[in-house]
Amino acid sequence: MSRKNIQVHKFGGASVSSADAVKHMATIVKNFNTNVVIVVSAMGKTTNALERLVNAYFNQDPSVEAILEEVKKYHLSIIEPLFGDAAIFNSEFDSLRKLIEEEHSLDYNFEYDRIVSFGELLSTKIVARYLQQTIPSLQWIDIRHCLKTDNIYREASVDWELSNTLVNKTFHFKDTQFYLTQGFLGSTIHNNTTTLGREGSDYTAAALAYLLEADAVSVWKDVPGIMNADPKWLPEAVSLRSLSYSETVELTYYGAKVIHPKTLRPLQLKNIPLFVRSFVDPTHPGTQIGKHGEDQGIPFYIRKENQILVTLHPQDFSFIAYENFQTIHEIFYKFRLKINLIQMSALSYSVCFDNKPEVWLSLRNTLSKSFQLKYNDNVELITIRHYTPDSIDKVISNAKVYLEQRTRVTAQFVVGPKS
Ligand code: ASP
Ligand code: MG
Repeated sequence: MSRKNIQVHKFGGASVSSADAVKHMATIVKNFNTNVVIVVSAMGKTTNALERLVNAYFNQDPSVEAILEEVKKYHLSIIEPLFGDAAIFNSEFDSLRKLIEEEHSLDYNFEYDRIVSFGELLSTKIVARYLQQTIPSLQWIDIRHCLKTDNIYREASVDWELSNTLVNKTFHFKDTQFYLTQGFLGSTIHNNTTTLGREGSDYTAAALAYLLEADAVSVWKDVPGIMNADPKWLPEAVSLRSLSYSETVELTYYGAKVIHPKTLRPLQLKNIPLFVRSFVDPTHPGTQIGKHGEDQGIPFYIRKENQILVTLHPQDFSFIAYENFQTIHEIFYKFRLKINLIQMSALSYSVCFDNKPEVWLSLRNTLSKSFQLKYNDNVELITIRHYTPDSIDKVISNAKVYLEQRTRVTAQFVVGPKS
């Protein structure tokens, strides 16, 4: 029945963001009694800091030095209390420094992956070393030796065929029951480091589970499973016991930040269940995602902030026709903007999308060449899955609704503050 008795456990940045968090993680890991692969992200907000470092390095901005120091200081605040010796990882910081003392290529995305990957390499070295104090057989793995990807830097996709043999050769469980490795990273056939897209560690966990035919994946988070709303927005949010793969895909599509959207497919293909579990309260059952979810019978609220709503009319007041929406979609594609909602009428075409300030002005100029344009910036897109009249009231009664759309299951509203 059980395949190789392997479970994959992923710990995100928040679960390794302080010495206490790492110690707490160790108490969770200690209770694992199967073969396990532990996938760990960069500590806390390190990836954001390293992104700033790449930008500074690329723009020859003097802030490079300050950001390097900030990254080092933060990690030392974890290393020191864990090991009583702040210097043991000094060579790691030296190698980061070396990386950015070299002259960079002109390929920003390539350089990004080369530098940002430092976050996961360092966090896994720290965590592995700490866990080895109680689990001496635990092995640290450089995932770049076996998880092979294409060369789309910053958004790499796994090369399943190449990775299959390498991953199974690496995680063989012959002399240990515990492996620990980096999420988010991979490498090309030429061994250049790649990353799988922000928040990509979930995807690493799923990819390894797929390749190793694991029995389950657990993602440990700072919330008790998947909740029916962001509790910071709606404090009465509750966690769900189970969800189907397809419902979860829908939720991530609408913007729920529950799991990296690419995570689900490999799991679904091999029917591997995914557990979203509470790092804070490991006894909480969390949410199980699998082939079938229970019908929760409660609405699910998703809020996307910082949206722009644009309504376009052909310049000559003619009807909206096929050529018009082709033009519109080509323009959005060119600007790499994903449209979150579309509504059309005879004379107009409205789209709602994420505000990216760096392209907004030139997008507006481009659209204005072919269309008359009206817009609201700084609106929000609220989606309610399994909506009821009450649920709609609850989230939009205090807002000005610019546009709404309903299917049988989903209601969506573009809203702004009531003036
Ligand atoms: N550290 C990476 C990020 O913050 C990957 C991850 O956390 O999943 O995007
Ligand atoms: Mg992270």
